[in-house]
Amino acid sequence: MEVVRLASETDLAGWRNAARNLRAAGVPPEAALWTVDGDASLFAGEGGPAPAAGAAPFTVPREFVELAQQVILYRSDERFSLLYRLLWRLQVEPNLMKITTDPDVDKARLFARAVSKAAHKMKAFVRFREVSDEDGEAFVAWFEPAHRVTEATAPFFAKRFANMRWSILTPDACAHWDTHTLSFTRGADPADAPISDALEDYWRTYYASIFNPARLKVSAMQKEMPKRYWRNLPEAGLIPELIAQAEARTSEMVRQAPSEPERRIVKAEPRARAAAADGRIEGRAPASLEEIAEAIQVCRRCDLWRDATQGVPGEGPKQARLMFVGEQPGDQEDLAGHPFVGPAGQMLDKALAEAGVPRAETYVTNAVKHFKHELRGKRRIHQTPNTSEVSACRWWLDHERQLVRPRVIVALGASAGLSVFGKPTPIAKFRQQGLQLPDQTQGVVTYHPSYLLRVPDADAKAKAYAMFVEDLKFAWKLAA
Ligand code: SF4
Repeated sequence: MEVVRLASETDLAGWRNAARNLRAAGVPPEAALWTVDGDASLFAGEGGPAPAAGAAPFTVPREFVELAQQVILYRSDERFSLLYRLLWRLQVEPNLMKITTDPDVDKARLFARAVSKAAHKMKAFVRFREVSDEDGEAFVAWFEPAHRVTEATAPFFAKRFANMRWSILTPDACAHWDTHTLSFTRGADPADAPISDALEDYWRTYYASIFNPARLKVSAMQKEMPKRYWRNLPEAGLIPELIAQAEARTSEMVRQAPSEPERRIVKAEPRARAAAADGRIEGRAPASLEEIAEAIQVCRRCDLWRDATQGVPGEGPKQARLMFVGEQPGDQEDLAGHPFVGPAGQMLDKALAEAGVPRAETYVTNAVKHFKHELRGKRRIHQTPNTSEVSACRWWLDHERQLVRPRVIVALGASAGLSVFGKPTPIAKFRQQGLQLPDQTQGVVTYHPSYLLRVPDADAKAKAYAMFVEDLKFAWKLAA
């Protein structure tokens, strides 16, 4: 038995070196035992037998290399041997990675998906607390990722909070950013993290403000925000009360007049263009809406993923007869991970209620799944996606359309019109018409709810809103 001692649980370089030597020496997977040597120096591993003299160099498919980068982070003792088994089999099965039904390939992909999801949750649920030391203000967060994604996810936080000194402490490793350099130390204990600070009031206020009672689905909420993360989330304490008040708040929201969007200050990252991609999406068609929701988190079809918190997938019943397509997630949608939950979403909810269209029976999505914005001071200001970004993201919208197969698709605003109809579709000219689409669905075009929020004149606003409600009624009748 050949024993390989790796320097750490995420020692990909050490695994690669050892696997290369094992394969060159002809050591089969069942004769290799992989362990992690806790005494080895952190993040600097080497291992395996010496390379066999005269062994021919070999290459592996790029998809294997990319898969290995994810799989190695999966929290299981099996991952090193699984990867080595795949590497070994690639010698005689060069197309192995394309056989998705193969149990080893399938398991590796399952591991990779779980790791990608854990990285996504970490990006969404890390909450910093303010501390001070001899150098002044700093921020510390405690987090327990489902898999070992701390090092892989740290560059995201460095980009996003470039001007803050921060540390993220986890049981596996700790990441530190001093506004210039990212560094890592060994895992920490929850007791090392501060318990609470004034920022928590900010989070609680913010969460209460974006909580949309009309869209409350407790099981879906708990799936998105699993209870294991609650103890680190200052806003989690609000959830029981917000759920209890949801019904009364929904009635109140429907009764109220539309409000101006909140002028909220958000800390956001400077635009950075050089961040390395941390995943990829294959060209094959997604088989389900769930797969699309996962896949857009690693989509790199255009550059918009770089500055966004997360991709925001569509939501709604799988066989909805009416589909709404907006332009892109806004600031609040980007943070919450759900479409139309901010001021525009509340406007849409109000108009839908007035038009007698149950939102729960419709599918709501966007032409572009990542938030395009620019920083002005500390604020993230919406930017309209360009034609190439809309076309890049149309891949996802087209698959949503094929999976949901709605009778009617409502394009909200010009960008959505471009995506749905494939060409500019002026709203004033085409509203209140059912336009035949090549896939036999009917297309309807109307205003984007955020346009209604921006109309400055009260009379014009009321008129535009009335037309919007009429268009929603028209589309619902067409879909009946
Ligand atoms: S905006 Fe669309 S195409 Fe661009 S990265 Fe996001 S999901 Fe991919």
